[in-house]
Amino acid sequence: MPTPISHAAVGFALAAWAQQGAPTRRVCIVAAACAATPDIDAIGWPLHVANDSLFAHRALTHSLAFAVLGVALATIVFFHGPMWRQGRARIAGILAAAFLTHLCLDGLSSYSLGLEFLAPFSRQRYRFLWTPLGSVHGGLAGQLVQEAFVVLLPALVIGWLGLRVRGAGVAPRAAAV
Ligand SMILES: [Zn+2]
Repeated sequence: MPTPISHAAVGFALAAWAQQGAPTRRVCIVAAACAATPDIDAIGWPLHVANDSLFAHRALTHSLAFAVLGVALATIVFFHGPMWRQGRARIAGILAAAFLTHLCLDGLSSYSLGLEFLAPFSRQRYRFLWTPLGSVHGGLAGQLVQEAFVVLLPALVIGWLGLRVRGAGVAPRAAAV
């Protein structure tokens, strides 16, 4: 059961390596936010959203349609203006990949009944046949420890290495993003 923090770390690491030229912090941070965004559906728990609702956990916000909308919105809001014009398509691709890492990691976990990848067009829930993350017999603490070693720490190290090796910047250099 990857936590939003682990998802964000994976998105950050991906953006640290996927940008052309020195990674910019803004792309890394927005990619991290995109990777964690699907779990915004957690606000449904205190609101007692029904399990079969489109707004239940791992339903609409874990769909490909939500990812497309989220990437479009994030690209428009955070990467408008001439400074980003040259690399906007690549940034959108990075943000899309960040979203997809969330869906893939959740699909690899045994937690819940699966994800509604195709919502709102289909309410079918899916997960991968191989679900190494989490165990239906393991406690929450055990799952969090496993996830920290398998997902969170590697992502943090890979992201940190990306910034160190590739030289982080605050803005895109000319046409290179
Ligand atoms: Zn999730």
